[in-house]
Amino acid sequence: MALNLLMLGPPGAGKGTQAGRFARSRGIPKISTGDILREAVQAGTKIGRRAKTVMDRGELVGDDVMIGIVRERLEQPDALDGFVLDGFPRTVAQASALDVIMTGRDPLIVLDIVVPEAELVRRLGTRLICEHCGADAPFQGAAAAACSHCGGRLVQRADDNQSVVLERLKVYHRQSEPLVEYYRVRPTFRSIDGAQPPDRVAADLVAAIEAAGSLAPRRGVQG
Ligand code: ADP
Repeated sequence: MALNLLMLGPPGAGKGTQAGRFARSRGIPKISTGDILREAVQAGTKIGRRAKTVMDRGELVGDDVMIGIVRERLEQPDALDGFVLDGFPRTVAQASALDVIMTGRDPLIVLDIVVPEAELVRRLGTRLICEHCGADAPFQGAAAAACSHCGGRLVQRADDNQSVVLERLKVYHRQSEPLVEYYRVRPTFRSIDGAQPPDRVAADLVAAIEAAGSLAPRRGVQG
C-alpha cells in the first residue's frame, strides 16, 4: 500500500520538520506547498511574484492556484508510491479537491499535530531558516551561525515577524482548523501531541501511521 500522508496543524506545529524526517526515512517525497511557493518567489516566476505579497501578509494564496500546483506534483512518478503533504490542504475547498485528485489511489492518512497557542507564538518568533537552501533550524536557543546542510546564513523567515505570525494564526483558526472536523470522521485520522520533544513526536507519528494504515479501507475508498 502506498503511504499517502497528510500533515495538519497550525504554523509552528513542526509539520515541516516531521514531514521531512518521515519522508526521508521511507524514501518518499515530502511535498511542502510553503517550500514550493518560496522557490517560486526566489525564481521570480509569475506565481511567485503574486504569492509573495499574499505570503508576506500572512494570508493564503488562492485555492485554484494551490490546487493546480498540488495536482501536478502528485501526478509525478515519484509521488505514486506515497508522499507526505505538508501545508496542503489549508481550506475545505482544497481538501475536497484533494479527494478528487486521490480518486483510485490509496487512502490518505491524516495526522493532526496539536500544539498550544502560546508555544506556537514562541517557536515562530525564534525560528531561523537558511537563506540559501530554506532548511529550518528550529529551537536552538542561542542562534546558530550557519545552516548544517549547506553552510548558508540563518535568517528569520519574512513571514515570521510578530504581526504576521499573529495574522497567520488567525488565518489558521478561521480557514484551516475546520479541516480537523472534515477529516476527523475518517478511520485514518490521528491526533498527535506536538508539544513534546521532536524525537517523541516522531515516534508517536510512526505509531499513529502504523495504526491508521492497518485500519485503512481498500484502495480508492475514502472513509
Ligand atoms: P507554516 O510554516 O506557517 O505552516 P508554510 O511554509 O506552509 O507556513 O506556508 C507559508 C505561506 O505560504 C502561508 O502563510 C501561505 O501564505 C502560503 N501557502 C502555503 N501553502 C498554502 C496553501 N495550501 N494554500 C494557500 N496558501 C498557502
